Amino acid sequence: MSRKVLLSGVKPTGAPHIGNYFGAMKQFVDLQKEHDGYVFIADYHALNFIQDKEEMKKNIIGILLDYLAIGLDPEKLTIFKQSDIFEHTELAWIFDTFTTMPYLERAHAYKDAKAKNKEINVGTFNYPMLMAADILLYGPDIVPVGQDQKQHVEYARDTAEKFNRIFGETFKLPEPMILKDVAIVLGTDGRKMSKSYNNTIPLFAEYEEIKKCVMSIVTDSSGGIPKNVYAIHKLFRPEDELKKIYAEKSGKYKELKELLIEDLEKFIAPLREKRKEFAKDIPKALKILKAGSEKAKIIASRKMEEVRDKIGVNV
Ligand code: AMP
Repeated sequence: MSRKVLLSGVKPTGAPHIGNYFGAMKQFVDLQKEHDGYVFIADYHALNFIQDKEEMKKNIIGILLDYLAIGLDPEKLTIFKQSDIFEHTELAWIFDTFTTMPYLERAHAYKDAKAKNKEINVGTFNYPMLMAADILLYGPDIVPVGQDQKQHVEYARDTAEKFNRIFGETFKLPEPMILKDVAIVLGTDGRKMSKSYNNTIPLFAEYEEIKKCVMSIVTDSSGGIPKNVYAIHKLFRPEDELKKIYAEKSGKYKELKELLIEDLEKFIAPLREKRKEFAKDIPKALKILKAGSEKAKIIASRKMEEVRDKIGVNV
């Protein structure tokens, strides 16, 4: 039986946080043992947020080092950069031609931005179509993501179905893979952990930064249990153990935070060290990325040939 294929990506918009890791990135590492697949750097998605050459470059190299440091194995998964494969934007355009405005207006990310009265660029509005192209070009079985991306994977499925209906069977329908316990990792203020809320604990934080983040956790408690501290802590210790500790130290917020700092440091320190090792040889890391993009390109261009054929532009 052939191995199942996974695909996922992360936007290079700055340091990833433990929400990105537990919600999605950890699954890439765990699944690579028994799956083939693709993990990409979603730089054209990031362009909606980062419009600064040096910052973009730094972030792309940053996420590449992050991928290697968490243990992604380029022998098992193809690590590539979205902008290296122009087929993504080409396919997104084709999807645009049969996707309606009201359908895209129902996307959560668009509705949230609109509710905040933000001026929305076309790239943000169109984001689900580029993401559908990212996924469908490679025909993955599963797309491991956090809860906030569930709707986008559903959009990819809808888009595949619509294309298949109009032009004939072409795309495989992917399944989102969302782990219940970590679907929405909470941040230091009890809301979803997100760079835009400024409530994150960076995955590769230095000790002092970990301390600062933990000390800033808002300690609204119920029955002596600081629930925002607990919500983060349960990512690092089994809950039966943690419940006992929190009962024993009921009301002792400072001690509980100190224990969380210790647990975070134990978890983060080895990742941080690995990342520093990879950062010593950036050309080597970039070579891995280039090789990955070359591999991905073969699959994507083959699929696009099929698509061009189906839509009738190959004459
Ligand atoms: P992004 O930085 O938006 O590219 O996100 C990368 C991955 O992390 C996506 O699969 C997100 O769904 C996931 N993710 C982001 N924030 C969280 C969170 N707070 N909890 C769980 N997953 C998350």
